[in-house]
Amino acid sequence: MKQMIVLATRNQGKLLEMRELLKDFPVELRCLQDFGPIPEAVEDGETFDDNAYKKALFTAKILGLPALADDSGLVVAALNGAPGVHSARFAGPKATDQDNINKLLSAMQGVDDRRAAFECVISLAVPSGPALTYEGRCEGEILKTPQGSDGFGYDPIFYCPALGKTFAESALDEKNKVSHRGRAMADMAAEFDKILIWIKARLEEVKPPKPDHREFEHNDWSQDKMV
Ligand code: IMP
Repeated sequence: MKQMIVLATRNQGKLLEMRELLKDFPVELRCLQDFGPIPEAVEDGETFDDNAYKKALFTAKILGLPALADDSGLVVAALNGAPGVHSARFAGPKATDQDNINKLLSAMQGVDDRRAAFECVISLAVPSGPALTYEGRCEGEILKTPQGSDGFGYDPIFYCPALGKTFAESALDEKNKVSHRGRAMADMAAEFDKILIWIKARLEEVKPPKPDHREFEHNDWSQDKMV
């Protein structure tokens, strides 16, 4: 029987990517839209790990199913790790990718140390709380001017030495081989058979035993227990 797992996202791209990655496993991957209007976790954690776990656990508890969530962003050495968990809204709550790129480029004006890394954490939680965590990191440099038009977010200013070009100049399959998300997902996929066993054991742990008879209603249970 297939194990149902919810991907805590409304992003169809992420769902398709994850389905492709796990296509050989007995898994039925669902996303939030499949469950109608349900609340979403607030991403106010201080680390990628906090946010990924928060999203995964919130979804697992609400739906009573194992849930997967990821959180990622750009970490710039000269900016003490910013924009980090604020990557999506670096230039404000309604910031576009271009606004965020502009803000980063101005913050980096005159800065020689251009080292940066994308980081990603994937969390897989069961409703009772335990979770598995997978991390991926991709080192690179922040360019002074954008290059390339593919991808999203900070891709046009992120030069990836492993590819010899920016993420925005790379095909998706090239990017996935070295990217933070690609690495975290590959680590998870590499042991997905073990993960399925872990999920089953965790779910059974919290299931109350199904009684054949009516439950005890005595108050003085200690006497009943004595034989
Ligand atoms: P999320 O974790 O997928 O929601 O990503 C948070 C933010 O980090 C995005 O809105 C982007 O600004 C940035 N980000 C994460 N991954 C990438 C990437 O692969 N390329 C460019 N930007 C990214």
